[in-house]
Amino acid sequence: MLSTSIPLEALYLALVAVLVLLIVVRRRNALLNSREADKKSVSSTEPLTPTLRMPAFQFPVEQDIASLESQSPAVEVVQVSVVVEKDLLEQNVLERGAERVITSVVLQQPLKKSLFAATSGRLLSGIRGIFGSGAVEEAAIFKELERSLIEGDVGVVATEKLLGELKGQKRDSALSLSIVEGELKSRMIKVFDSLDGASLSLVNKPTVLVLVGINGVGKTTTAGKIAQKYAQEGKKVLLGACDTFRAAAVSQLQIWGERSRVEVIFGAENSKPATVAYTSCKKAEADGVDLLILDTAGRLHNKKNLMDELGSVIKIIGRELPGAPHEILLVVDSTSGQNALEQARSFNEICNLTGIVVTKLDGSPRGGMLFAIRSELGIPVRYIGLGEGIDDLQQFNPTWFVEELFA
Ligand code: GDP
Ligand code: MG
Repeated sequence: MLSTSIPLEALYLALVAVLVLLIVVRRRNALLNSREADKKSVSSTEPLTPTLRMPAFQFPVEQDIASLESQSPAVEVVQVSVVVEKDLLEQNVLERGAERVITSVVLQQPLKKSLFAATSGRLLSGIRGIFGSGAVEEAAIFKELERSLIEGDVGVVATEKLLGELKGQKRDSALSLSIVEGELKSRMIKVFDSLDGASLSLVNKPTVLVLVGINGVGKTTTAGKIAQKYAQEGKKVLLGACDTFRAAAVSQLQIWGERSRVEVIFGAENSKPATVAYTSCKKAEADGVDLLILDTAGRLHNKKNLMDELGSVIKIIGRELPGAPHEILLVVDSTSGQNALEQARSFNEICNLTGIVVTKLDGSPRGGMLFAIRSELGIPVRYIGLGEGIDDLQQFNPTWFVEELFA
């Protein structure tokens, strides 16, 4: 009896020892994992200083973290989130001490064409020139920067704000071209926020969008492009031809309607814009339309009677569909420079703009006025036009836009 109970006890003890060992090992692993997790959870919620995008880290979506890290051993990928939206590419890199961290990557379809492709007048070419000539005084750099920004239509208010921030920035080393570019870029990106580039929400059925602006800026073209975009996404879209001044304007919109397979509402000859707006709202409501897009006639922002007429069109829409129009986008031509700021100011007084569409950026070096409009009037930039084709409309992306300005 005794001879069998001793080995049993020993067996018991051995079992307990193994169990204790297992628990210790598991705890140790858990501890190590949690330390690893702590390390991995460094995120943008911590007060880290955003640094510039690093072009070397633009990578296609299929690349994994390991190959990312192998691109540069100096960089530890702590957290990568991939959001595939449309059309653009963006990533956020944060820096803490010597450690650089990619916190998010937004990969989107590459653009068909580079912005400002046909142009030479780039922002900062003057500054690059100065640095090319050797060591430079800070005052001279800021003076040149001011000149470049004002010449680039950034406007006095936004320029002063940007330069004030740059002058107040503490640095460990003297200003170099890359420091100036880097700091200026990140400040310029921060002029914008999440409202910029936001798509139409379509929470209201129908959501009513009115496109306004002076003549020839691209309102009708933009109406056609937006109709195409949402029709392609499976939304029920309706176009209303409220530019009743010219017969050609109606047929132009009808062509866009045919291209995007979207019905176009138009009035009899000499009908009033408000009448077409009213009919379009009625039809949109009756047909369960998701998005009604109303194209309007171009009007000079300083012609009071035309602006008043626009005001009454907006009122009639609101009377017919309470809460509408939900979106009023001002279309501006990128070549109009600082005048676009005046247009935005005048139209905003009449009809509370919800956003800006800037067109013809495919052929123009000028986009600086967007900083002026955003800084002075607080109106977000929603879309950019990059050509005359039906798909040449992109949601505005501040990071990409600023990168292109410096390209
Ligand atoms: P609206 O008078 O404001 O309705 O302007 P339109 O839509 O009729 O456009 C005026 C001209 O600008 C037309 O020739 C369009 O093809 C052209 N256009 C509009 N948007 C763009 C764009 O983003 N890029 C280029 N290159 N041309 C554009
Ligand atoms: Mg038109």
